[in-house]
Amino acid sequence: MIWDRCVMVDWSGGADRGLSPKKDSIWIGQAVAGQSEPPEYCRNRVVAEERLAEIISAARDTGERLLIGFDFPFGYPTGFASAVSGSPDPLALWAELARRLPASVDGRERMDVAAELNALFPDEGPFWFDVFKTGAVPSKKPLQTAVAEWRAVEGQAKGAFSCWQLGGAGSVGSQALMGIPVLERLRQRFDVSVWPFEALDTQVAFVEIWPSLIAQEIAQSQAVDEIKDAAQVRVVAQAVSRLSPSEFTAMLEDVPKAGRMEGWIFGLGHETALAGAARQGRLRNDCFALPPGVDWAPVEDALALLRARLGPVTDEETIQVWEAACRVLARDVTALRAHPPAANSAVDGYGLSEGLPSGLHHIPLAQGRAAAGAPFKGQIPEGSALRILTGATLPEGVTTVLLEEDCRVTDTSISVEGPLKRGANARSAGEDVKQGATLLAAGRVLTPADLALLSATGHGTAPVRKRLRVAILSTGDELREPGRPLQSGQIADANRPMLAALVRGLGHDVLDLGICQDDRSALSSKFDRAAAEADVLLTSGGASAGEEDHVSALLTQSGSMAMWRIAIKPGRPLALGLWKGCPVFGLPGNPVAAMVCSLIFARPALAQLAGASWSEPLAIEVPAAFSKRKKAGRREYLRARLVEGRAKVFASEGSGRISGLSWADGLVELPHEAVEIRPGMPVRYLPFSGLFA
Ligand code: AMP
Ligand code: MG
Repeated sequence: MIWDRCVMVDWSGGADRGLSPKKDSIWIGQAVAGQSEPPEYCRNRVVAEERLAEIISAARDTGERLLIGFDFPFGYPTGFASAVSGSPDPLALWAELARRLPASVDGRERMDVAAELNALFPDEGPFWFDVFKTGAVPSKKPLQTAVAEWRAVEGQAKGAFSCWQLGGAGSVGSQALMGIPVLERLRQRFDVSVWPFEALDTQVAFVEIWPSLIAQEIAQSQAVDEIKDAAQVRVVAQAVSRLSPSEFTAMLEDVPKAGRMEGWIFGLGHETALAGAARQGRLRNDCFALPPGVDWAPVEDALALLRARLGPVTDEETIQVWEAACRVLARDVTALRAHPPAANSAVDGYGLSEGLPSGLHHIPLAQGRAAAGAPFKGQIPEGSALRILTGATLPEGVTTVLLEEDCRVTDTSISVEGPLKRGANARSAGEDVKQGATLLAAGRVLTPADLALLSATGHGTAPVRKRLRVAILSTGDELREPGRPLQSGQIADANRPMLAALVRGLGHDVLDLGICQDDRSALSSKFDRAAAEADVLLTSGGASAGEEDHVSALLTQSGSMAMWRIAIKPGRPLALGLWKGCPVFGLPGNPVAAMVCSLIFARPALAQLAGASWSEPLAIEVPAAFSKRKKAGRREYLRARLVEGRAKVFASEGSGRISGLSWADGLVELPHEAVEIRPGMPVRYLPFSGLFA
């Protein structure tokens, strides 16, 4: 991370906004190491200037590197600086504006200053929108002025407002006029460099930002009761603080010549990377880093790391209960109503007001009946029984139901042998689920039975996470689509169909990215597409450290590469990292290793990213139908099949043998320690049915 702390400021050109937090005022959001702190409200510019000075002083004391972003233009279209200060240097203009506009709470004087600046031009001058209706500046946009309406950057930032417009929606003109002098004063007090006018070689840097670049991510992340300006600074601060050094540098450097003098918007043209960094629950760039100094990490340690560092990256949506099977619940859900909602009969029979003592009873039969969906509305005469059917709401006064099979019945009465307990054969209201009770916890993968429970307790819809989109890519010059003729040296791509089916079976969506040659730039375009269109990328092949291992090379380039050397067989090194915010799982190319690594590592990792709670794979102990001696130091998975309750293993352990993978119906897991298995000894068997559908 280049910057220890990212501070983003939503500026305002207007007057004091009062004590309580409001929109359209100044908001300051800070993030450290990818985690944002609660945004702060500043009622006016003087308060904000002091607060920024405090933040900068604090950083100076601790040695933290500070990046501060402001959402107003740092400069004006070419020609303006020269006209005002006699020099094209944008920072000379800053000094001149600070001279004309000292610190001010209400800022009314900006109109007079705009008028003075207009007077420097032969025509009407560029500033317009007469906020206080004093006639100081034109009320309408001038038809033509000596200086251009837009900076070069606004030609690319569609929808941005003009720095000449002093009022109305956005009122960017007033924000810049009242903002630049504040920045200039801070620059005089502290050692600050200003992008893109200066090299960022000081401890504190100012950049121009435009939150609209990631408007969608901000809208998705904004809490219901959160002020939009607060959400903007929070999300932008978090996003910028999560950029990798190479992403950050690319954004800093991508400024055309005109922008170097007029100012430029940080991140323009790099919206995918910014949006990726902003995405909810996004991952830290070092989220896959294994503890240093470990040569071959035990499988448990690698899994514990995935469990601790990966969280949901998908947004919430509300869908019909009907559609919700296999989806991940996004929030805890409570019962909207009790189940059953009313006391009712558990059997077909006769309803009584009380239980019965032992002995033979003759009971008169009341007129009418109670059935499911057709409750009895009348009065039951004292001491009478009423015909009642399963599921019927118990009529007023009925507590107990006689089972039909236990009664002899005439047209007018029933005879029955006691005793019968009060409440027998009746279900009380809420005996299954009380209203308000917690039904299911966030992270639950909804089962068919859960849909019944949700429906029964009053839910027509369920809050779930959007399906995780998993991009799948095979890499290798030797690979051809299955079914195609093969030239010498070529093989069919076996991994993509397998991994796609596996991922779908786990309940995720698949984005097929096809086959990529062993070519760095082709691969980086595929990675870009995954980052733009998917939540996570699974690649196979090219994950080791050889010269044709471009997956690991690209992740190294992105600054997030973690080479996982896990003590597992079959398995080769895995390359894990983030590409523009998108987690990448670089699986080994070998299909057997790709499958086992997917089942053991990618399956739980994808579940975490999808928002599901951690679940261990289903494992059962069965007697071995094989012999094997294994050394300590790695966990082994054998392709296995249950035959008459005993685990057989595939004859060859060769990791290129796809036929054995297909023959197997599960895996036998042998522990890290040394073991010697003989037939009949218990082994851990993991059925594929517990690993994928
Ligand atoms: P790599 O991890 O790229 O070094 O590949 C290891 C081995 O797996 C090589 O023999 C590759 O030809 C093979 N391989 C890589 N990708 C696939 C694939 N998609 N389908 C089948 N075999 C593959
Ligand atoms: Mg390869």
